[in-house]
Amino acid sequence: MPEGGVSRARTQASRRAGFQFSAAAGPLPDAVLDRVQREFRDGGGNGASVLALPFTSQVFRDLAAQAIASLRTLLAIPEHYRVLFMHGGASAQFAAVPLNLLHGRSTAAYVDTGYWSGKAMAEARRFCTVNVAASSAATGYDRVPDPAQWRMKAGAAYCHIASNETAHGLQYRSPPHTGDVPLVADMTSDFLTGPLDLQRFGLIYAGAQKNMGIAGLTVVIVREDLLGRAHPCTPSVLDYGIQAKHSSLYNTPPTFAIYLAGLMFKWLHAQGGLTTMAELNRRKSARIYTVIERSAGFYRCLVQPEWRSQVNVCFRLANETLTPMFIEAAQCAGLFHLAGHPNAGGVRASLYNGMPEEGAEALARFMEAFAARNA
Ligand code: PMP
Repeated sequence: MPEGGVSRARTQASRRAGFQFSAAAGPLPDAVLDRVQREFRDGGGNGASVLALPFTSQVFRDLAAQAIASLRTLLAIPEHYRVLFMHGGASAQFAAVPLNLLHGRSTAAYVDTGYWSGKAMAEARRFCTVNVAASSAATGYDRVPDPAQWRMKAGAAYCHIASNETAHGLQYRSPPHTGDVPLVADMTSDFLTGPLDLQRFGLIYAGAQKNMGIAGLTVVIVREDLLGRAHPCTPSVLDYGIQAKHSSLYNTPPTFAIYLAGLMFKWLHAQGGLTTMAELNRRKSARIYTVIERSAGFYRCLVQPEWRSQVNVCFRLANETLTPMFIEAAQCAGLFHLAGHPNAGGVRASLYNGMPEEGAEALARFMEAFAARNA
């Protein structure tokens, strides 16, 4: 086995064949997987597998209610916010947000910080005029534009941000102030990685597959006064008011993904809650950024230090021809899915909630050893 990598971390994580750093989906903690394994065949009650939970059953309704209650305590969600469990990934929300929140207006403000805010804007243009209030495209998405310089058009129905840019590796440190204009955030890649002051937001949404389970479920948290004024053409499944009225059971919900999210919420509580997770995520990413900073230019992070993501650490090798070798050698060392997003290139290490600290440690040691060998 090559130096660094999984071999040294195995004593603490003896059941792992390796660590996966994919940005697309986060690893699930062993404790959660063990529980699923135990309940796989008959955890759904009355002989039903948790994979085949009827959404109409009391067992599922209790599970979903417990998951929501657990999420509410985790995030200290105020009473006047509703939690919705929806389908279609965060991409469906790119359409659902304008359809539900334009409230008869024709313009919405968007802040462009990279690939995912770009995707949200492109979809919104199907429904309204997009006012790009600020963009860091000119500097290669190396920062979040200073909120003091944002130019929001008068009458913008809401202001949309991506709190963490999964492809470019930058992250807001705190929610920007948008005055009376409701702030909407795509939190798909950093939801539940730390505490949140929800009162600063009109709506947030996040796909479950990175930090709270598996694909199929999207969590939406929305302030009640924004509900019930969707555009008449809004498909019912995307209508927040309809979903809220039916407690997210308007049609068959992704039952297994909701069950799993409930287990993840419990697991997050057991870790000490979101303040503990924030500290853990800060430590994991700091370990990798420190290796980059101390590599005498062998590795380079293009994002300015102030805005570096704590969940998607994106970097390059100064000698780019070594990148394929780096990724292959990492794989041989049990460190998987490190290639950067196709639009950004380079290397990307995603350190979602389910990534243990040993994973970041294994990668850091591998990076040090690789640099020493190839400098
Ligand atoms: N927003 C962000 C920030 C993302 O990282 C992703 C997926 N990587 C999406 C939206 C799209 O999510 P989905 O594929 O679940 O629609």
